[in-house]
Amino acid sequence: MQPLPRVSILVVDDRPENLLALEASLEPLDQVIVRATSGDEALRAVLETQFAVILMDVQMPGMDGFETSAILRQRERSRHIPIIFLSAYPEDTNRLQSYASGAVDYILKPFDPAALRSKVSVFVTLRQNELALEAAHADLERRVTERTAELAAANAALEHEIRERKLVEQRLIDQAYHDNLTGLANRALFLEHLTRAFARSRRRALPGFAVILLDLDRFKVINDSLGHLAGDTLLSETAGRLLSCLREVDTASRLGGDEFAILVDGVDALRDVTRLADRIQTCLTRSFTIEGKEVFTSASIGIAMMTDRYERPAELLRDADAAMYRAKEAGRARSQVFDQEMHTSVVEQVHLEADLSRAVERDELFLAYQPIFAMRDGRTSAFEALLRWRHPERGIVMPSVFVPIAEETGLIRPIGRWVLQTACKQLAAWKRPDLTMNVNVSAQQLHTELARDVATLLAETAVAPARLKLEITESAMISGGGTTDQLLATLRAQGVQLCLDDFGTGYSSLSRLHDLPVTTLKVDRSFVQRIGVSDERPEIIRSIITLAHHLGMDVTAEGVETAEQLEWLRKLECDHVQGFYFSQPLAAEQAASSLARETRLIT
Ligand code: C2E
Ligand code: MG
Ligand code: MG
Repeated sequence: MQPLPRVSILVVDDRPENLLALEASLEPLDQVIVRATSGDEALRAVLETQFAVILMDVQMPGMDGFETSAILRQRERSRHIPIIFLSAYPEDTNRLQSYASGAVDYILKPFDPAALRSKVSVFVTLRQNELALEAAHADLERRVTERTAELAAANAALEHEIRERKLVEQRLIDQAYHDNLTGLANRALFLEHLTRAFARSRRRALPGFAVILLDLDRFKVINDSLGHLAGDTLLSETAGRLLSCLREVDTASRLGGDEFAILVDGVDALRDVTRLADRIQTCLTRSFTIEGKEVFTSASIGIAMMTDRYERPAELLRDADAAMYRAKEAGRARSQVFDQEMHTSVVEQVHLEADLSRAVERDELFLAYQPIFAMRDGRTSAFEALLRWRHPERGIVMPSVFVPIAEETGLIRPIGRWVLQTACKQLAAWKRPDLTMNVNVSAQQLHTELARDVATLLAETAVAPARLKLEITESAMISGGGTTDQLLATLRAQGVQLCLDDFGTGYSSLSRLHDLPVTTLKVDRSFVQRIGVSDERPEIIRSIITLAHHLGMDVTAEGVETAEQLEWLRKLECDHVQGFYFSQPLAAEQAASSLARETRLIT
């Protein structure tokens, strides 16, 4: 409990002895006593202090007590201050006048100090209570204000935190749904939009939508030659150009690598979609400037239009993909719409995939062996093992049909192992130490384990490493980067021979040739078959052979079909030849009997 506050009492009298007497009688109350000797002074004092009570002499020169009181009553500030009049005059008339001017009491002089004190003390207590109440009120108010401020601060902090969290949450959602590099939608978001468009389109036929799948041509080459940073720049600039071709309602996304998908929403006419595809193509064929270099690219585009034939959204993506592959096959930089004929071939592909996965265990694969002849003595110097598939319903399926499927599905690894094993066993069985076996190897097989597999196999079959020649295409040799380089070096160190297959068809430059640990260069049959077609002399083959010899490699020409081609190749000092002119690929037994006859096919 707070001690009671001291309050002020104003005593007004023109005579000092009266003031002293008043003060003396009030002193025991222990309050602040302010004195005034005139009405004027009293008014001034009231302006400064809020009094508990005023003791006012009635008879004063100048303004008397009643007049002073009347003014005090008019002022807002002093209107309610209790006034006790003191007077030596007989009560009756004056008392009425004093009450009219606002007095609360009227005391006759000479007064009884104790009675005066007791009257005054009532007003002191009143004022004290009033002050205490005011203080309590002020305190309450202050505390309310403080608490309100605290709450407001807490509220602000909370709101700030909520905002932050929402931002973080949004960022996480964005990240989960967007491709970091390009800022486009990622596969997940694309599929979500696709699913939504699909559901909507199934509910009511129109408007329809289409899926465009797009793959940058030559991206790998650009990425490999200019570096990954340049590749990344190209991808994000491609994203920007794509967006500039699309409307707000369309969704552009990067599915991975250099593959983009676009959901073209609200279109009914295929023509609108193909026009858009053309626009995109035009947009992408404009040169890009990357790291100060001009870079050119184009896109292979596949289009699938929503029809009621589709039962699941993913089928549209699958078909757009098939169409895109067609576009690539047809020579890139073009778009292709998925049609019924492709549908059949997609279904077929799916069946072939399933069948192929069982082909090894069902023993449906076999090898054909095509002899390779040494120009020097006309003898068979090697066989190239060529894979065949005896399909239970389709008959013999050629590698050009199923090897790409095996590569796509990863089946090429077990199949490739089987090929290597079968070819090496066959070579051992022929018991002809002068023969070499050429085995084709796909890019996907170029993993470190290949070196181990080969070593084990050679040890098992007791075939000298130099008698195995792996045929690898240019693009496969170059695409893998460092790990492939290392693998090739390891294989060479093991003594295995390496042949660059289909030379001249890839992108690789002649300048990289001397870096590759290659023992043989196989000139692609497209060059061989140009010999004799026109009168031009086979200058390309001549340069290839000369260059290869300079680099210490020997040269095999594949696809030799005519005597004229053979003659030219002899003149150009080609080391080995292979082709239908000499022999088709043979079954193992036929190959054995041709060896036994030891016919020299070249004279
Ligand atoms: P490649 O390695 O360039 O094989 C040569 C292809 O040319 C063989 O086709 C062969 O039959 C054919 N050929 C041979 N002489 C002539 C000729 O005088 N004229 C013409 N027009 N063609 C000729 P095949 O057997 O259909 O093989 C095609 C491709 O499949 C091969 O091309 C090779 O890349 C791939 N392949 C074959 N077997 C395997 C294998 O075991 N593993 C892998 N990864 N790929 C294989
Ligand atoms: Mg080959
Ligand atoms: Mg070849």
